Amino acid sequence: MTQSGSYDVNAIRREFPILKKSINGYPLVYLDSAASAQKPLSVIEAQREYEAHFHSNIHRGVHTLATQATEAFESVRTKIADHINAAQREEIIFTSGTTDGINLVAGTWGRANLNEEDTIVLSRLEHHSNIVPWQILATEKRFKIEVIELNEDGSLDESSLNEKLALNPKMVAISHVSNTLGTVNDVKRITALAHSVGATVIVDGSQAVPHKTIDVTDIDCDFYVASGHKMYGPSGIGFLYGKHSLLEQMPPWRGGGEMIASVSFEEPTTFNIPPYKFEAGTPHLSGVVGLGAAIDWLNSVGLEKIAAHEKSLIEYASGELMKIDGMKLIGTAPAKASVISFLVEGIHPSDIGTLLDGLGIAVRTGHHCTEPIMTKLGIPGTVRASFAAYSTKAEVDALVAGVNRAVKLLR
Ligand code: PMP
Repeated sequence: MTQSGSYDVNAIRREFPILKKSINGYPLVYLDSAASAQKPLSVIEAQREYEAHFHSNIHRGVHTLATQATEAFESVRTKIADHINAAQREEIIFTSGTTDGINLVAGTWGRANLNEEDTIVLSRLEHHSNIVPWQILATEKRFKIEVIELNEDGSLDESSLNEKLALNPKMVAISHVSNTLGTVNDVKRITALAHSVGATVIVDGSQAVPHKTIDVTDIDCDFYVASGHKMYGPSGIGFLYGKHSLLEQMPPWRGGGEMIASVSFEEPTTFNIPPYKFEAGTPHLSGVVGLGAAIDWLNSVGLEKIAAHEKSLIEYASGELMKIDGMKLIGTAPAKASVISFLVEGIHPSDIGTLLDGLGIAVRTGHHCTEPIMTKLGIPGTVRASFAAYSTKAEVDALVAGVNRAVKLLR
């Protein structure tokens, strides 16, 4: 465990209670942050504090607690808007996470705008949650789904991108960072290209938010979605950013309390303004408060510092893993974030995962909800190690030693 420059990884680790844990008699080596990051004490405490002292339902009450809870909730909307540089706080909709946000966009914008003669474009990199909602809608509305293919290294194939955009798609749905290959897509450039052919753009930012400063105004995407639990916050909460002009035109999604202006059996029911139009029902209130604390935590450490720390770990880990006989890294795009997927010749990825777990090392194995990548590569899955602000060089060494042990025992 090292301290580099002003980045004190040991001090950061002390903020995460779970990292003190032992698993199977070994100190926990948590290399599964791309699936879900661990939470610092400040996030855990913020949620506890809210539940213990401020909880009430929001928006609807005149009593003091209702006002305090509403203020706590709404202040996080402003915090997220500032964090991702949205033009206005009303462009932030609370969701239960990335999956929920994409389903919202498919279920409202998609259902209102996509028809039989239309095409939408996804990439082969997408997580199932940026594929299946579109497929479900396509069976109903009969539009076509076209797929941008990948280069060998896991970057987007530029000619495939151009070919698909030449079809004048109505929507381009693309991930900012691949959860399986780590590829970072130039979403600003892709958005500009997509806009030039008239497409609306949704960016799945769930793997980008813990590693990069996000500026939705600069990217100019129409929608951006993320999950709290990938950015050191709670699960069951996330956000959708949408350009206000689009949100205003979109029909409501789920019906219920809060999303209405007035409800009547005699007259047509009318709907609230965005973002409330899309927030039916009581949300995950302490989750929102925790998400606000997670953003404060990210900003207190500094996303640039976190990214530099993770980059040095990825470079070190890639170099060390490549020394292992039969090692194949899956996903070597020049622009890569904090994920290393790999296979070792002659050993099934899940056997490596199980052996590593016996040593207290948590990695993910399988298709990582990206089966189309696996199909294309003709592999059953990969072993995926993913890194976060609290990951260390010593943990990389433990991983490499563990994989070496798997090679000795299993091959
Ligand atoms: N997209 C990507 C790229 C992801 O990595 C994930 C989570 N693995 C999701 C979408 C879905 O996120 P959630 O389960 O939080 O809705």
